[in-house]
Amino acid sequence: MMENFIKYVQELYGTKDFIPLHEPRFWGNEQKYVADCIDSTFVSSVGKYVDKFEQLTAEYTGAKFAIATVNGTAALHIALLLSGVKNRDEVITQPLTFIATANAISYCNANPVFLDVDKETMGLSPVKLEEFLTENAEIHDDGYAYNKTSKNRIKACVPMHTFGHSAKVDEIAAICKKWNIELIEDTAESLGSKFKGKHTGTFGKFGILSFNGNKTITTGGGGMIITNDEELAKFAKHITTTGKIPHKWEYVHDVRAFNYRMPNLNAALGCAQIEQLDFFITQKRKLFKKYEIFFKDTEINLFKEPENSFSNYWLQAVVLKNRNARDNFLEYTNGKGIMTRPIWQLLNKSKMYKNAQIDDLTIAQWFEDRVVNISSSVIKNL
Ligand SMILES: *Cc1c(COP(=O)(O)O)cnc(C)c1O
Repeated sequence: MMENFIKYVQELYGTKDFIPLHEPRFWGNEQKYVADCIDSTFVSSVGKYVDKFEQLTAEYTGAKFAIATVNGTAALHIALLLSGVKNRDEVITQPLTFIATANAISYCNANPVFLDVDKETMGLSPVKLEEFLTENAEIHDDGYAYNKTSKNRIKACVPMHTFGHSAKVDEIAAICKKWNIELIEDTAESLGSKFKGKHTGTFGKFGILSFNGNKTITTGGGGMIITNDEELAKFAKHITTTGKIPHKWEYVHDVRAFNYRMPNLNAALGCAQIEQLDFFITQKRKLFKKYEIFFKDTEINLFKEPENSFSNYWLQAVVLKNRNARDNFLEYTNGKGIMTRPIWQLLNKSKMYKNAQIDDLTIAQWFEDRVVNISSSVIKNL
């Protein structure tokens, strides 16, 4: 079977050389826009491509506003800060995510709380969320949710749409509303993915995107905050761009702000990439269909988009029989020049977060033991 898999992937990608997990594709106006950006000399902190890229991202996602940032982690940091997350607050998320989700929470001196994920989505389980809050939280006179044990405010909830598959974000949003908790979606992996026809990242106060080199589209490095709130959008722009008050020459800054802006050069690349996003997603969905046929009569399961979700299939994922089968698969494929990677180690196991509150993480652990990402780069002719 594994031998056939190697052959199959080599055929798909038309090469016997090393095949990376996810390569960017520059098949559009990348050279043109980047060259134009260089010619203009505006390669850095100002320029028309940043505005353009923000506008295109807002249009694509259906969010009213989009604010470009230097990377996705910075976008999440700002989204949390602007949701009021601060010292000692608790932020509920999933343990099955990239480390950046928890790091951004800790940049605000807040503490992540890791709750289990759903078997159908690999995203935060609304059932576990409700259970956790019912058992551990109480609403105080100020109308907000507090952790009964730690006495700290439970300020926000950050579900993540794993590999582009939507979490059950409508249920999560309803629970957050009931408990007066801010909802911020980590949509770093799910640009183009929709839940019940609505773009992920638009269900709560903020969504955040990443344009790192391995994501569905890339700006080299970059991120975006999306929101429907005009005031917050304005402040997000201000605080990510040093908090300078516009003036002909004076340097007056009115807030302790960040230099988190996306350079114009990166935005130029992004403008070219987003033009091809629909094509990339179409091809990724076709690739899924190919793999589905290949794995049909094997003991390996391919992770499929959940109900109500339109997935971008950023990274294709297979679910092996157990940890041992997973390790063998990783060993064999990587040994043959087909790059594959396991899903993340649960974040509560990393030493920085080992004291974090958790609930029963059976499903997350089940995925950690079994999931491997396989070759997912866009193929032009499928
Ligand atoms: C990629 C990613 C990020 C961070 O994005 P960067 O642009 O690399 O900072 C955050 N969360 C998740 C789930 C990601 O996959």
